[in-house]
Amino acid sequence: MGLLIVFTGEGKGKTTAALGMALRAAGHGLRVCFVQFIKGSWRYGEIEALKRFEGLIDLHVMGKGFTWKSENMEEDARLAREGWDFACAAIASGVYHTVVLDEFTYLLHYRMLELATCLEFLAGRNPAQHVVITGRYAPEPLLAAADLVTEMRMIKHPLKSGIKAQKGIEF
Ligand code: ATP
Ligand code: MG
Repeated sequence: MGLLIVFTGEGKGKTTAALGMALRAAGHGLRVCFVQFIKGSWRYGEIEALKRFEGLIDLHVMGKGFTWKSENMEEDARLAREGWDFACAAIASGVYHTVVLDEFTYLLHYRMLELATCLEFLAGRNPAQHVVITGRYAPEPLLAAADLVTEMRMIKHPLKSGIKAQKGIEF
């Protein structure tokens, strides 16, 4: 039974939860496609670690130049569609046990993509296909469509006490 899983909320742990799931599947020899939707949000640590899982976990970074502060909304929307088309192809390929769409919620939140179209595609996917979506501000209809939703709630974050990002923790 393929699950639609969403990790959202303001607390830390969404991307790392998705990476943990990828690792777990890979341990069974199951293939994972991990698609990252925001440029620069790849952390060096996970890129290097995932290289060791070549052939099991495929990494793809979409939206070259995406910053979400772009003046050029047309260009952003075009890149969003390109990223979404890639994700659809990965989901439809039947090659992967799990497809992770990391930071994908932003494309929906900022209306770079039409939510209804995305939900329709996800609903029509192979019923055995697992899909994991991460990112803040997951829209309500996505939560309604999901089988599993976890909201990371920020209780404390070291940044608030002035502790900078550290190797192995944030990157
Ligand atoms: P991680 O990649 O560590 O699992 P995440 O995916 O939940 O975090 P994002 O919203 O994608 O978090 O933000 C990525 C970066 O921002 C991470 O380095 C994370 O530590 C940091 N971060 C996450 N939540 C907070 C927060 N509440 N306050 C400050 N920084 C945060
Ligand atoms: Mg993240």
